[in-house]
Amino acid sequence: MRKHIVAGNWKMNMDLAQTQELISSLKLQLVKETDVEILIAPPFTNLYPAFEALRETPIKIAAQNMHQSDNGAFTGEISAKMLKSVGVKTVILGHSERRAMFHESNESLSEKVNTAIANEMTSIFCFGEELEDRKSDNHFNVVKKQIQDGLCHINEKDWSSIVLAYEPVWAIGTGETASPEQAQDMHKFVRNLIAEEYSDEVAQNVSILYGGSVKPNNAKEIFSQPDVDGGLIGGAALDAVSFMQIVHSF
Ligand code: PGA
Repeated sequence: MRKHIVAGNWKMNMDLAQTQELISSLKLQLVKETDVEILIAPPFTNLYPAFEALRETPIKIAAQNMHQSDNGAFTGEISAKMLKSVGVKTVILGHSERRAMFHESNESLSEKVNTAIANEMTSIFCFGEELEDRKSDNHFNVVKKQIQDGLCHINEKDWSSIVLAYEPVWAIGTGETASPEQAQDMHKFVRNLIAEEYSDEVAQNVSILYGGSVKPNNAKEIFSQPDVDGGLIGGAALDAVSFMQIVHSF
């Protein structure tokens, strides 16, 4: 059985006090049982306080990015080892904002994936097409290349540390979600691709999350699709009630 996962990507939001407040509210919402794996990804400066505050809870923390090198002259960057030293075992890689604004390529992401594997960290690997790609009916090709170039060099056994996140760029922060059918079509396409590149077993075991304007009022329908195993949540993750409503949409 694939894991159901709901991860909150806080992006560059929430200072320390706001982080503590949001985590307190999330803890108050942890009343109903769930087998969904819950993660939050606060900014780097708040990862350790978040880790401390969530110690006795099922909520795990993730980083929003990391550098591929272990240490050295990379001003402004954070390594996998630094993240692990503050309790982080999961990292979001290749978010479309990082691809677009910080020029992250499939090639540099493939190195980050290697670093995550070498450090026994889980990668939430993001991919997704832009609006023009979808309009020109090129979205499957774009996604195929992102996955092949970023991920398909890894060993079959290392897929146990990979979570995929399909995030069509046109649906992020826009209020416009992919329809449940559009999400399902892409998730199924990706699962078939992994089966071709590796095996049915790898394809059936990898969780594929959907991200892009997931809200409490649309999560249930999106999560009901057979190949959608969870969500990567931006805006709605900044509100504890909304986020936990999404978690309980399975
Ligand atoms: P959104 O962001 O839910 O605000 O659209 C999703 C994401 O960027 O991960």
